[in-house]
Amino acid sequence: MFDKIVIANRGEIALRILRACRELGVKTVAVHSSADKDLKHVRLADETVCIGPPPSAQSYLNIPALISAAEVTDAEAIHPGYGFLSENADFAERVEESGFIFIGPKGETIRMMGDKVAAIDAMKKAGVPTVPGSGGPLGDNADENLRIAKEIGYPVIIKAAGGGGGRGMRVVHAEGALLNAISLTKTEAGSFFGNDMVYMEKFLENPRHVEIQVMADTHGNAIHLGERDCSMQRRHQKVVEEAPAPGISEELRNEIGGRCAQACVDIGYRGAGTFEFLYENGEFYFIEMNTRVQVEHPVTEMITGVDIVREQLLIASGEKLSYTQEQIKIRGHAMECRINAEDPETFMPSPGKVERAHMPGGLGVRVDSHLYGGYTVPPHYDSMVGKLITYGPSRDIAIARMQNALNETIIEGIKTNIPLQQRIMGDANFQKGGTNIHYLEKKLGL
Ligand code: ADP
Repeated sequence: MFDKIVIANRGEIALRILRACRELGVKTVAVHSSADKDLKHVRLADETVCIGPPPSAQSYLNIPALISAAEVTDAEAIHPGYGFLSENADFAERVEESGFIFIGPKGETIRMMGDKVAAIDAMKKAGVPTVPGSGGPLGDNADENLRIAKEIGYPVIIKAAGGGGGRGMRVVHAEGALLNAISLTKTEAGSFFGNDMVYMEKFLENPRHVEIQVMADTHGNAIHLGERDCSMQRRHQKVVEEAPAPGISEELRNEIGGRCAQACVDIGYRGAGTFEFLYENGEFYFIEMNTRVQVEHPVTEMITGVDIVREQLLIASGEKLSYTQEQIKIRGHAMECRINAEDPETFMPSPGKVERAHMPGGLGVRVDSHLYGGYTVPPHYDSMVGKLITYGPSRDIAIARMQNALNETIIEGIKTNIPLQQRIMGDANFQKGGTNIHYLEKKLGL
């Protein structure tokens, strides 16, 4: 195991990584911007390095500053967390070229998965089900593109190969709009992502978002940890996540999970990863892979007992996975509510000083948050300030515990989305389970 690592992130995930390091006896270096010296993990870390001014581009995205921080502190590895540089293939490569270990997959794997056309191609070869589509980039031949769309059947969606964050996509309902949509998406993709390659997929009208957590070591072992349902979204941003996904049979879980684990072996995957699927009428359709730890990883930890961040550290240091597939047993149900510093009605960010903070507790309640009374939420970063996670032997109990946890939480001085989360937890259709990705925006009138 490593002696010391750099945590190249901030907020709750940096604290999550620090806690895993402490348990393993690994020393930590917290790098932070000048706006973040009061972050909880910065106060708890063994060493700290200020890497730049508040804007992310000059601090958390500043590759030379991060590598220098590892050099001056004599650290061995860098954990990128999620967001920021976690899916940047150039960063992963430069970390390794500089003699450090990147706690994640190889740069080339990140690059392949960042190109959605290449990723879909690799998944097809590995036997993972994908959305019916063009099966490659669209060319300039209008007749050919019209033919492909006709064959797939309308509605179709035009997507940028290099897209991300829900941008660079356009739905086409009828033939008359197709060619214009392709050229608009191409232009947009070129300017947003520096890559104007686009492809076409069948547009699924009412899918759920169901994803599979995988872990693979460098000894040829790969396992899946079951699925999560993240259908409760607003503007493609997840708001609530849960595991397991309502209504997925053990047989289907093992079938799709097994294919994902096998795909990891086929592509030489390393570390934690997530296969994201749209799920409709009992079928899974792969849309993309995330090559990092995800915000919602705790719900999987709660139902499997596997510490995903600990496994990431073990894998990166060259050890074997601590579990075989047979040892992974899913028990009970877990729910996660993201807590954002934002107005619950307008969704405007609400940074500022937290005058008072009281976090919930009790059986089956987990709080992953860097908030404390007196902490000031800076305006420069993502508005998520923590996550409430509840666990219970059944979904109903996990929801009831979440309702208690939300009611007990007191955060004063800033606005939070807790009232929205209370509305969701009290919603009759959500309580039934299985609502689709449009539910939050449509039914709650958002
Ligand atoms: P990004 O990398 O930008 O998040 P994704 O490929 O993950 O892009 O797609 C983001 C979201 O767009 C999905 O969660 C889903 O809501 C919608 N979407 C993408 N592809 C399709 C599709 N073929 N049919 C219906 N919705 C889709």
